[in-house]
Amino acid sequence: MEVPNKNTQVNFDNTEIAFQHKSNKDLEKAYWLFKMVASNALIKIGTPITTFSLNIGLPIQGIIKNTIYKQFCGGESIEDCRKSIDELAVGNVTTILDYSVEGEETEQSFDETFQELLRAIDFAKTNPHISFSVFKPTGLGRFDLFTKVNEDKPLTSDEQAEFDRVLTRIDAICKASYEADIRVLIDAEHSWVQDSIDDIARDMMQKYNKEKPLVYNTYQLYRHDKLASLKADFAFAELQGFHIGAKIVRGAYMEIERERAKEMGYPSPINPTKEATDKEYDDSIRFCLDHADKIGFMAGTHNEESSNLLVHEMQKRQISPENKNIFFAQLLGMSDNLSFNLAAAGYNVGKYMPYGPVKAVMPYLFRRAQENTSVGGQTGRELGLIIKEKKRRKAAKK
Ligand SMILES: Cc1cc2nc3c(=O)[nH]c(=O)nc-3n(C[C@H](O)[C@H](O)[C@H](O)COP(=O)(O)OP(=O)(O)OC[C@H]3O[C@@H](n4cnc5c(N)ncnc54)[C@H](O)[C@@H]3O)c2cc1C
Repeated sequence: MEVPNKNTQVNFDNTEIAFQHKSNKDLEKAYWLFKMVASNALIKIGTPITTFSLNIGLPIQGIIKNTIYKQFCGGESIEDCRKSIDELAVGNVTTILDYSVEGEETEQSFDETFQELLRAIDFAKTNPHISFSVFKPTGLGRFDLFTKVNEDKPLTSDEQAEFDRVLTRIDAICKASYEADIRVLIDAEHSWVQDSIDDIARDMMQKYNKEKPLVYNTYQLYRHDKLASLKADFAFAELQGFHIGAKIVRGAYMEIERERAKEMGYPSPINPTKEATDKEYDDSIRFCLDHADKIGFMAGTHNEESSNLLVHEMQKRQISPENKNIFFAQLLGMSDNLSFNLAAAGYNVGKYMPYGPVKAVMPYLFRRAQENTSVGGQTGRELGLIIKEKKRRKAAKK
């Protein structure tokens, strides 16, 4: 296999490296899956039918498990994920175990999620291929409660006790991560709960990031105010003597954000254009690099230009690819051409590996399917790369 030169741009078109972990059979499966996903109509019809079928107990779990679930998830439990973790590790790509059960809103489910997150941190202690732990705050407390805190509305004494339990869970996860020396990412959510999440994240960073960046908050650069938040958090951290951990993403809830703002008559928090988002994103990468000794950051993106920009800027500033304060990250089953080619060139790469019972991770899978429906967009790119690799393997056999 061709070994990439560490001092040049990374070639994201090298499909031999990108798909080294996929057998011919797996590649064929991925090909049919992306072809199917590219059919917008199929996804539109398929989503409600699948939900309905699962709800009434039709035996379609097996089909889902062998197709879309296998492409985008590691397994139903941490143990189940071992095979996928090892496959990524062969290409020097690390895993970020992401317990992806969504939509449960009971104290029991929050406690179960909490226990599962602690198990994942424990597992990370024994597995060198896990780079971060991660959690979604509304997996640990009611969405409406976060909304109320966000609006600064007074809580009843029951609600206050409930919110204290959420804070205790989050603090325990950050503390366990700190003690295990595993960095922890706090996912970002909808803007109408995000201020309350940011406040908690800032407290956690102040508490656990004294020696190095350990807790990472997420900054969604599709919001026009988030580069400013990143800068303000950094200034505060400088004053208080702690490090900033930042996961830099564009943001996953654009449509719903815009619709809600329109419906409720407030200005949209989202940048007016894709170009504006791209600029904010790239500027935040530069800002983090300008303070690379104080900010640990992760570029969570499937965008090739932004990934290239980060490589280029690191080279320009003579920052080693192995610098542990800089990570690239993608989602399992997507943009392997970025993950594996970056890792082969020596950069730190993490892959979010969602896991959990099939039915419980369906909302996550539907989001991935919907996000991939545009043939001109990511799916077109994924399909093109898979076809290229299929051809390459066929020619190599001759
Ligand atoms: C490892 C990882 C972790 C992630 N964690 C989170 C998280 O915690 N919270 C979260 O919200 N998302 C998260 N995401 C998803 C992320 O925010 C993006 O939705 C997704 O990665 C697509 O953006 P991109 O940079 O990969 O690619 P691109 O295809 O270049 O960008 C698409 C994104 O650009 C923005 N955009 C598109 N059109 C417009 C427009 N007309 N105007 C303004 N902006 C526009 C949107 O944010 C859209 O999702 C994560 C993604 C990854 C890879």
